[in-house]
Amino acid sequence: KGTVVLAATPIGNVLDASARLVALLKDADIVAAEDTRRLYDLANRLGVHVNGKVIAYHDHNEQEKSKRLLDQVEEGACVLVVSDAGMPTINDPGLAIVRRAIERGIPVTCAPGPSAVLDALALSGLPTDRFCYEGFLPRKHAERMQYLRSMQSEQRTMVFYETLHRIDDSMKDLLETFGPNRPMALCRELTKDYEEIRRASIAEVLHSVQENPPRGEMVLVVAGASDDEALAAAPAALPIEDLAVLAI
Ligand code: SAM
Repeated sequence: KGTVVLAATPIGNVLDASARLVALLKDADIVAAEDTRRLYDLANRLGVHVNGKVIAYHDHNEQEKSKRLLDQVEEGACVLVVSDAGMPTINDPGLAIVRRAIERGIPVTCAPGPSAVLDALALSGLPTDRFCYEGFLPRKHAERMQYLRSMQSEQRTMVFYETLHRIDDSMKDLLETFGPNRPMALCRELTKDYEEIRRASIAEVLHSVQENPPRGEMVLVVAGASDDEALAAAPAALPIEDLAVLAI
């Protein structure tokens, strides 16, 4: 019987590839890869021969490709979906085929593995019991500030993906929104040789970014608001009657 399988791929260290990923690369009838060249490169490094058909499946064609792929699953094919790194659908292609498979009652499963969000969260040293994944912040300063302000009373640990081009600007906006003292971690080049975690206050991490600009891929993990901070940030959105309740 045909199935769709989403599989996580390494985010830096090829040894993080699971045994299940290796088997799927070998055995899947069709491999839908975000970038086919990177897929073959990964297979080479794992010493796996990809026997199935490989097709490009990315942000720009995933809607149209999903329908045909699912027709093939209905005919009995096993379709493996992989992105360039980490878990498909997490700021990567994959959601379109999952949604359509659910609509059509087609089995979809997952071969889990590396994803930068959980790696960074676990290494941050910040509370992990409740967290929110925020993907990439808006590119433009005004939109980024508006977005961050909407999170001023967020009490869960927040995880943001970031790029080296915007890290300086984003850090300044984090400082303006959450203040200088909020603990955070900048997690860089996870699982790679130059993995580095900078754990400090927002002001200290901003200073380090300016002194020693981080290279490579990075994730920012920011502590949530304390009860006092959340209360101080909330009133603007509350009517007067609710403020009276909060004061009791
Ligand atoms: N699907 C991926 C996942 O599950 O993590 C995320 C893909 S997203 C297009 C790429 C972003 O993930 C990077 O800009 C960075 O924020 C983060 N990332 C991926 N690999 C990383 C690594 N080795 N170290 C730190 N951040 C990483």
